[in-house]
Amino acid sequence: MSAFTVTRSRFLKTAVGFLAGLPFASRLRAGLPAPPVAGSRTRSVVVASANGLTAIERVYQLLANNSDTLEAVVAGVNMVEDDPEDMSVGYGGLPNEQGVVELDAAVMHGPSHKAGAVAALRNIKNPSSVAKLVMETTDHVLLVGEGALQFARAHGFKEQDLLTEKARKTWLEWKQNLSPKDDWLAPPQEDEKVGAAELFNRSTGTIHCAALNNRGEISCVTTTSGLEFKIPGRVGDSPIIGAGLYVDNDVGSCGSTGRGEANLQNLCSFHAVELMRGGRSPKDAGLEVLRQVVSHTREDRLLDKKGRPDFGLKFYLLGRNGSYAGVSMWGPAKFAVADEKGARLEECAFLYAKED
Ligand code: ASP
Repeated sequence: MSAFTVTRSRFLKTAVGFLAGLPFASRLRAGLPAPPVAGSRTRSVVVASANGLTAIERVYQLLANNSDTLEAVVAGVNMVEDDPEDMSVGYGGLPNEQGVVELDAAVMHGPSHKAGAVAALRNIKNPSSVAKLVMETTDHVLLVGEGALQFARAHGFKEQDLLTEKARKTWLEWKQNLSPKDDWLAPPQEDEKVGAAELFNRSTGTIHCAALNNRGEISCVTTTSGLEFKIPGRVGDSPIIGAGLYVDNDVGSCGSTGRGEANLQNLCSFHAVELMRGGRSPKDAGLEVLRQVVSHTREDRLLDKKGRPDFGLKFYLLGRNGSYAGVSMWGPAKFAVADEKGARLEECAFLYAKED
């Protein structure tokens, strides 16, 4: 190590130490976040996508029983991953184009600023729990495909076929209707339809859940079966830290559901948290990242006749002070929240109103 390096690193340490000790107003002027106040109390708040309404009751209860925020949110989303009726997450999730369910999930723990994720994971119904173990027991952040499956097996997760009859029939109906020029004959119109109402309007779904406890600690999780009928191996935004979710414990968190590709091209969750660090409210930060997605969406195939993004994208934001918001490209739309007033659905702020 050169004398210069030593001097420089000492200088940096001294500078960082000096900045950390600055009074609040000076920290603000220096562009630094407000430091967590030792022993400061906040209220507990849980936010989630609308399909997490039941889960957040459990998460809130766990927070009241002093569970760690990450333990609580993962226990909450496990309920949705286990539910065969939710066709966007875990067991019963819609499969890829070959009829195989592939799951993505990520977790982030605010107090330690650690993260873990898995992508394109097959046969394991709780990818969020595997993502948590990646964070807790490895030096890595993201494991994919076969490696993620081997890691899950090593930790004793049981493999199972995640494709329910309902999901299989929905996939088959999609496949049979793909092209009039192949050998898969479309079922007669009068046949009972089992799944997707609009076959060619690709639907998405996911659960994101974030929790703030009364010690000011925040953690979050996003888990999904991703875009239905995707190309095998496709990874969405959900397991990508900074896109599908992000938390900075001094500031707040953000997570997403909706068109993953649009989020991946804009790294929206990280951006939203940074906007909140700069003083924006959760709602304003969320709407601002949606506007940025709009301005970056330039392909005609992704725009409607009025030039608006022809896809859904939502963000769920939680501030360290207990403020929160759900924002959506298209409204009306709802998100789930639990606090001292109970668990409920609230309206998202949105950019564009759906026309009937
Ligand atoms: N964002 C997820 C993905 O693109 C899907 C969704 O939320 O609906 O994989």
